[in-house]
Parts: sequence; structure tokens; C-alpha cells
Amino acid sequence: MKNNSINTLVRENILKLQPYISFRDHNEFNAPVFLDANESPFGTCNRYPDSTQKKLKSRLAALKNVSPSQIAIGNGSDELIDLIIKIFCEPKKDSILMMNPSFAMYGFYAAINENRVLKLDLDENFEIIKNDFLKAAEDATLKIFFLCSPNNPTGNSIDDIEFYLQNFNGIVVVDEAYIEFSGKKSSLELLEKYSNLIVLQTFSKAWGIAGARVGMAYASEEIITLINTVKAPYNVNVLSQELILKTLDDESRLQENVKSILEERKWLEEQFQEIECISKVFPTNANFFLIKVKDIESVYGNMLKKEILTSRRDPAIAGCIRINVGNRAENEKLINLLKSI
Ligand SMILES: *Cc1c(COP(=O)(O)O)cnc(C)c1O
Repeated sequence: MKNNSINTLVRENILKLQPYISFRDHNEFNAPVFLDANESPFGTCNRYPDSTQKKLKSRLAALKNVSPSQIAIGNGSDELIDLIIKIFCEPKKDSILMMNPSFAMYGFYAAINENRVLKLDLDENFEIIKNDFLKAAEDATLKIFFLCSPNNPTGNSIDDIEFYLQNFNGIVVVDEAYIEFSGKKSSLELLEKYSNLIVLQTFSKAWGIAGARVGMAYASEEIITLINTVKAPYNVNVLSQELILKTLDDESRLQENVKSILEERKWLEEQFQEIECISKVFPTNANFFLIKVKDIESVYGNMLKKEILTSRRDPAIAGCIRINVGNRAENEKLINLLKSI
């Protein structure tokens, strides 16, 4: 970012907003009697969750080598995408920039607030064309660039993240939903250098806990305070907070998950080479493949008939389907079917 301070990027009404403070979550007690929140005194799960997610943040801070004040936790990283747009984009006035193709939810949440969505078309290898980026970045209504790496649905990682941080006069959100599968360095280490960086990560993919709906934003304390101000106070429920803490106790779980997925990814890639109806397998850094097939109607239709659900990207990406790496039994079903087409 050239010369903006973060506050000049924030909507004025958001800067003035008073956060909802849960008194009990911001103080220490020994044996409190809770008569402050109109909860039931009976049963389990009868209390509101910790609105500041203290335990979770302290564990994540140690794991990621950042300060707890640099972490915001959302009901999935989806919620964080929504909140980031709300903080920086004036409805009907400001815009976001995203790669094309990329994760549809950036455009979805922008559209809800009537923020314009500028799309940066990727080249034939799904790389960003830097000159196109520089041209697009001149638009004065732009507040946020969503940079997804590895990118969904293409699977490739984006290099030279610092180039985008240096040449964008707004917030750069690096969405690292698939970083654990990539073998690449996280952009977390750039947080100290760039005040306009937000890194998104999630428990939904490599950690294998999509059902708990927990995602993280890592950024400067200034940006994290803004996210905490606009979020619903009790956005991450008690059961999810407990489940994530338990999961973090078993450090080997992530490594084992990732190792199995990478083994299966390699197996699938080898199998794909033998299959007649596939014309191209794009290189992937994630837990999915983008493949191009010769006859999309026939291939996609045949998979659906066998109740093998995949993500059809055609016509947006001509002839292409995004396919998740599953377990061996699932992958074998997929390969056997593809071989029969
Ligand atoms: C799956 C995915 C997410 C994760 O969203 P959650 O709300 O945390 O489940 C975020 N970004 C991208 C690009 C994704 O593909």
C-alpha cells in the first residue's frame, strides 16, 4: 500500500461504532453467579459462548506465532469475508477486486451491499497478469483485493504476493483456505511488514472440521479491532469452540489428514493420465483438481447419474469440472466410472 493509513479506508459509520461488550468476557471472576444475560440456569450448553474466544485465540497465537490481538475468529471464513466487506466498502459506492475465476463468495457478499465487483481475468495458466492488475488497481473506488492462493477453483498458488501488497491502495485479503496442501509459505510472515494485509485461514479443509464453521482472520491489531467491533458478539458457538480446542490438542491430526490427502491426490493424478474422456488435468496445490473433459454433458451427466457429485465449472471455464480428492473408496468409484465413459 502506498500511503493510506488503515482508518482512511474504513467507512465513517464503522469508525464511530461502539462495540457490544460482554462484561463477563472482559473481566476475571473466581466463583461468579451469572444473572446478567437472561440465560437458563439449568442444563448443558445453557451459557452464551465466550464472545472474545480467549482460549481459542491463545492456542492459535502460539501455533501461528502471532499475538492473540492479531486474530479474529468467524463462523467460517465466509463470515469474515462478509465482515471485511462491511468494514471497508461503502454500499453502492465502493468496489472490490477479485481474480476470475476465483471463489464466488467474494462477489456474493459484495453484491449484497451493492458494492461493484471488478474481475481480473487470469491467463491460460490461471496466473494473474501483472499489468492488468496495475491497470485495474487504479480505480479509486476499490477498497479490497481478494487474492485466493491456492486459488479455488483452479488449484494453483499465486507467487509474489508482496507485489500486490505494494501496488494496491487498499486492503489485500490473502485467502489461504488450502494453504496446508500447497507446501508453500503462508503470508502470515508478511503481517509485520504490511498493515493492509489480512490472511484468511479455516478449519473447514485440511483440518477436516467444516461442520463446526470456524475460520480465522490474521491482521494488524487495528484491523482485528474493527472486525471484533462489527461481528455478532456470540458468532462462534460453545460446541464449536470446544471441538476446535480438542482438535488442537492432537497436533498430529492435521499432518495425518494432509498426508493422506496428498497421497490420494497423487494416486488420482496418475489415474487421470489413463482416462480417455479427460483432455487436461491442471496442476494443483489444493485438495481438488480442475480437469478439462472432451464432452462435458456426457461426463458430468454420467457422474450425476451414479450420484458422484462434482462441481461443474463449465460454461464459466469451458469444459471444466472441479473434483475433490476423496478417500480411496470414493476415488476408486470416480475413476472406475470415468474409465467407462
Ligand atoms: C472453502 C473455502 C473457504 C472456507 O470457508 P469456510 O467458511 O471457512 O468454510 C474460504 N475460501 C475459499 C477460497 C474456500 O474455497
